[in-house]
Amino acid sequence: MLTVAVYDTKPYDREFLQKDTGATGIRWRFLDFRLMAETAFSAEGADAVCVFVHDQLDRRCLEALAKQKVKLVVLRCAGFNNVDLAAARELKIAVTRAADYSPYAVAEHAVALLLTLNRKIHRAYNRVRDQNFALTGLVGFDLHGKTAGILGTGKIGQITAGILKGFGMRILAFDLFPQTGWASENGVEYVDIDVLARESDVLSLHLPLTPKTKFIIHRGTLELMKPGAILINVSRGKLVDTAALIEALKSGRLGGVALDVYEEEEEVFYEDLSGMVLQDDELARLLMFPNVLVTAHQAFLTHEALSDISRVTVRNIMALAEGRPFVEGTVL
Ligand code: NAD
Repeated sequence: MLTVAVYDTKPYDREFLQKDTGATGIRWRFLDFRLMAETAFSAEGADAVCVFVHDQLDRRCLEALAKQKVKLVVLRCAGFNNVDLAAARELKIAVTRAADYSPYAVAEHAVALLLTLNRKIHRAYNRVRDQNFALTGLVGFDLHGKTAGILGTGKIGQITAGILKGFGMRILAFDLFPQTGWASENGVEYVDIDVLARESDVLSLHLPLTPKTKFIIHRGTLELMKPGAILINVSRGKLVDTAALIEALKSGRLGGVALDVYEEEEEVFYEDLSGMVLQDDELARLLMFPNVLVTAHQAFLTHEALSDISRVTVRNIMALAEGRPFVEGTVL
């Protein structure tokens, strides 16, 4: 029987993991704080740790886990920029992730943000609740006939492109490894990133965070973007240089920005800070723009995605227990 310490646990994690426990005999130790070097002592007696996007598994943290004989890190997310994989390998700690959970959840959230922002539903909702039925300031644009630029055409990028194609948009794409078969079947055109920025009315980011993609959206890219264009980021906050983004928004050139992720989100996302003084000046500035929409890293939050994540998490823990290979495609 294996003990698994689950960090940064929220009620929905507990619910879905417990639902999938069945007769596995996994003993969950649900912890509501995050795993990092300073809290790693709490993994004492655990065979595996189950972590999410804001846990910080740097070398120090992994060394502390190795000392406590933790053999497996199971990420219940797709991104793995918060784990020092080289250190994990050296320390012989296996790392798996939830690689294939519903990419529709994330793509659909990107499109939900786009529609809300473009048609100003967030503002209309508040106005109507206040019995303000005026329409001034709520003009959007037709997506039909406009150009969408998809940065990153992996699982989520391809689905987002497909949905936007359904609106009648022209789709441009940029990726280190172009999927030429998919592109020709779906009428998608790969271009370089400058052309993508220059020609897109909607630019949507679907890249992992790596040293190469950090600040892929910087002052230069923002300057290339069409006046009135919309930027959507549901991938990782550090893909966008927030200071440059704020300058671009202040200049009035951008039509709007929708963010499900934010450069410094670790400090605030997933916490209820209502009634407190927000200490992050850049986030506070972003929240002041009428054409900025922020959700707190919730694109994965559907029943289907949570079920997929929980199922693969349990399967990988049982693979460790029974000495079987981990689920294909989830090992890092
Ligand atoms: P994926 O691995 O299927 O696709 C990523 C694509 O990015 C690949 O096609 C890859 O070739 C491309 N790429 C990588 N580095 C690049 C570079 N330097 N330049 C150009 N292209 C590059 O990943 P996915 O499942 O589509 O997920 C994409 C990202 O979405 C994840 O890495 C994660 O950070 C983020 N995500 C966010 C949420 C959320 O809740 N907001 C949920 C899931 C995933």
